Amino acid sequence: MKKIILMILIILLIAIAVIVILSHQPKTLKQPSSNFKIVTSFYPIYIMTSNLVQDAQSVELVNMTETNIGCLHDYTLMAADMRKIENANVFVQNGLGLESFMQEILSSYPNLRVTDTSVNITNKMEENGHVNAHIWTSIPNYISQINEIAKKLSEYNPENAEIYSKNVQDYTAKLEELNQKYQTELTNLTGQKAVCLNEAFTYLLKDIGLELINVETDHEESTLSADTLKNIIHQMKEENIQVIFVAEEDNQQNANTLANETGAKIYSLNTAMTGELEPDAYIKAMEENLEVLKQINTN
Ligand SMILES: [Zn+2]
Repeated sequence: MKKIILMILIILLIAIAVIVILSHQPKTLKQPSSNFKIVTSFYPIYIMTSNLVQDAQSVELVNMTETNIGCLHDYTLMAADMRKIENANVFVQNGLGLESFMQEILSSYPNLRVTDTSVNITNKMEENGHVNAHIWTSIPNYISQINEIAKKLSEYNPENAEIYSKNVQDYTAKLEELNQKYQTELTNLTGQKAVCLNEAFTYLLKDIGLELINVETDHEESTLSADTLKNIIHQMKEENIQVIFVAEEDNQQNANTLANETGAKIYSLNTAMTGELEPDAYIKAMEENLEVLKQINTN
């Protein structure tokens, strides 16, 4: 009898423990459907927008693609990503053709409002017959992009207009301070020649006055042909080019070949295309790049 009572007590205690544990589980927050839902196309645009929506009320920010897909150039639209756009009030894209899937999205969501962050960019660069879309690596371009986003968010979601306006001003101030450093600390690079093996850096490097030999690689410089390499080596020797830029995540095999053949140095930069999901991610990436660029010996 005692045993049975003991058993019942133990079972009761376990049951109580389970109930207590379950009732303390964090509940998944169901957003009310009246939320203003913003979907961004990929990481850089998500980081821009995340800075603008801080402290905004009833706003939901979703990035359509996974954080580390890299460039949209290498991306194919997936059904699971497409579903994230459901009930979105606005879709924010980089523009200039980087979101090659926009037609597909708009045929599924014909009423979706699309904000194109590139509309006010004036220094668009054409390479091999198409516009280089990696505009965000130039800080002034980036500032133009966030201002366009803030303008459109205020228009579509006026309840938070004041917050968007304050956020974009604060963020712009930080970016301008960083841009000032680029303008004053790298003046020795103006007019210098360099080989750039990742098209994402064109805007950044042109900003600081470098003269680039641009090699289109689709972010994978290991695909360069032997002929292309030969021509670059020839030009580097001819013009005494001592600097090669690559992206941190690139395969550096060909950069090494170029360096070995010419004695040039390789400098790895951050494309700000992948990274941590934190508001200061872009600023940190560009601060990191500034330090790398300061290492370049121009004597
Ligand atoms: Zn790309």
